[in-house]
Amino acid sequence: IDSGNNLYRVVLMGETGVGKSTLASIFAGVQDNLENCDILGEDTYERTVTVDGESATLIVMDTWENKDEDNWIQDHCMQIGDAYLIVYSITDRASFEKASELRIQLRRRRQAEDIPIILVGNKSDLVRCREVSVAEGRACAVVFDCKFIETSAAVQHNVQELFEGIVRQVRLRRDSK
Ligand code: GDP
Ligand code: MG
Repeated sequence: IDSGNNLYRVVLMGETGVGKSTLASIFAGVQDNLENCDILGEDTYERTVTVDGESATLIVMDTWENKDEDNWIQDHCMQIGDAYLIVYSITDRASFEKASELRIQLRRRRQAEDIPIILVGNKSDLVRCREVSVAEGRACAVVFDCKFIETSAAVQHNVQELFEGIVRQVRLRRDSK
């Protein structure tokens, strides 16, 4: 990845069913057939967006669940991302606990680096099924030293904000170098 071209690889991680693929396809504009979007493979999308007046091209990788025998793919995902979205469902406490586990694994794999991460509590539309409070999500992000946002892929709430947020996080680190 050549950051000089504002090209960033964003990896989605998280338990099955939390909404990773739905978030990725909304961002990529799959439903709207956006012109500035390319589907690079079955689960990799590229889209150029303008954030704060500057353009950025995101390669969004929804490859986390392409499991193989020796976990090569997940291992590879942990290595290649410029930024990570760790997604859980607010209706599924186990997925929230899994998110913490993934954060720890990622930190271990990329020890010396200050990688941009956003903890994403998805399915915020399902208010009656909520198992993880906003406060818990926020507190977890503080502990893990990352950003936090709640989204709903179903009603498309905060999805663009999520991807803009990750662009800003990458830039903050780029500009402080
Ligand atoms: P993945 O396994 O993490 O890729 O999850 P999917 O994107 O396949 O979503 C799993 C299921 O949750 C699908 O039936 C989605 O339609 C549903 N889903 C995803 N996001 C939301 C959301 O924000 N709200 C609601 N109510 N359902 C969602
Ligand atoms: Mg999926």
